[in-house]
Amino acid sequence: MKNINICIIGSGLAGLSAAYYLKYKYNIEIFEKRERTGGCLSSSKTKNGYVEDFYHHFFEGDSLLISLIEELSLKEEMEWLKGSTGYHVNGKNEPLTTIPEIIRYPYMTFYEKFRLGMLTLRAGEYDIEKLDEVTAKDFIEKECGKGVYNSFFEPLLRSKSGEYSDKVSAAWLISRIAIRSNRKSGGEKLGYLRNGFESLIESLEKEILDSGCTIHTNTPAEAITKSENGWFVNGKEFDLVINTINPKKFCQLGGPNIGEFIYQGAACMTLGLKRDVLNGLYWVNMKDKAPYGAVIGHTNFVPYERYDEHIVYLASYFSGKPPEGIQEQMLTDFKTRFSLKDDEILWNRIFIEEDAGPVYMTGYRSKIPGYCIDGIYYAGMFSEANYPERSMEGSIAAGKKVAGMISEAYSG
Ligand SMILES: Cc1cc2nc3c(=O)[nH]c(=O)nc-3n(C[C@H](O)[C@H](O)[C@H](O)COP(=O)(O)OP(=O)(O)OC[C@H]3O[C@@H](n4cnc5c(N)ncnc54)[C@H](O)[C@@H]3O)c2cc1C
Repeated sequence: MKNINICIIGSGLAGLSAAYYLKYKYNIEIFEKRERTGGCLSSSKTKNGYVEDFYHHFFEGDSLLISLIEELSLKEEMEWLKGSTGYHVNGKNEPLTTIPEIIRYPYMTFYEKFRLGMLTLRAGEYDIEKLDEVTAKDFIEKECGKGVYNSFFEPLLRSKSGEYSDKVSAAWLISRIAIRSNRKSGGEKLGYLRNGFESLIESLEKEILDSGCTIHTNTPAEAITKSENGWFVNGKEFDLVINTINPKKFCQLGGPNIGEFIYQGAACMTLGLKRDVLNGLYWVNMKDKAPYGAVIGHTNFVPYERYDEHIVYLASYFSGKPPEGIQEQMLTDFKTRFSLKDDEILWNRIFIEEDAGPVYMTGYRSKIPGYCIDGIYYAGMFSEANYPERSMEGSIAAGKKVAGMISEAYSG
């Protein structure tokens, strides 16, 4: 059906996947507002290769992502590494990966640890629908006590949801725990690509372009209007539109209103350091209050030798616009807190994404939109495939889903 013209708005994983699974069959044009493709999965150069602008890894169960990696002949690059976790409390990195480490953790009583363990074991048994209207905070405090919430979940929720941490739903939290508790403990096995996820984006882009699709970078979709047989995007007529951006922003451009979505932004600083400040840990949630919710030691996950410098991320979330002077605040705090001298910081840069993901607040579950509403196809971080954990897998699944629906409806 080469005579069907499709416009895809956004070239993140959802948009690129939709194009990849529709290629050769239709005329496809992708509109991307930034100068490069990849969206939240974009990368930047370091002296020895690429590193993601936002920390990324994947899981053994991410079957669509793994199949895509294989289809794109990147299987040789796939590697499984150990991801350790900990908390930064009272100025110290406390490891919390293995059972002995959890037993030794001094900020929870034995009884609290027992209640936390029981919650993890029972996570798969809760009726998730009933938990959609309950906040994670109220639920945890009731099930495990305030101590477990304050010592364990509050820093974790803060690192994931910033100022919305006490509004996210118990349905979201429990669904996430249920997924994660199926995975192995004692250092989670996490997936990565040897040359970074840049190779995934590069390969996807090449396949799409080779098939005749067009990618317009530096080209935001600015105006959407209904035409007799389809939609105008920036004045050009298309038979079909696939929207992958925040539905609220899409509506502001003239697209249909499909509901209220609250997104949060991410401000993520990447630094190159001369030494490791995390005692070998990969993911450290900040229990101590800081202008970032987690410190992520990329080179405590991926071998240090690959970059020849210690790479860490400082992760923070915000609503609306990023706080004024965030880069300076993060840097100053990080230097002081981890006693870093100026010459131990080789470089730093910050990446800001205002639409880094929907906030899964109470009531979210019932608002998840369908994949096709009023003639527009929707695939993105807001899609069902990305609930309860927005992920690369979820955005690929959403892109593939709408591609399948279109292929079925317009098979000629
Ligand atoms: C900090 C962070 C860490 C993450 N870590 C992980 C992880 O470890 N593992 C994992 O699986 N997932 C992770 N994710 C999630 C994963 O990155 C996303 O689910 C996925 O990349 C989203 O793809 P998408 O295409 O749905 O959205 P996006 O990547 O947001 O793509 C949307 C695209 O639309 C473009 N756009 C916006 N407005 C317009 C417009 N008007 N016109 C044209 N283009 C527009 C944007 O520039 C962007 O390129 C993380 C995300 C973040 C933010």
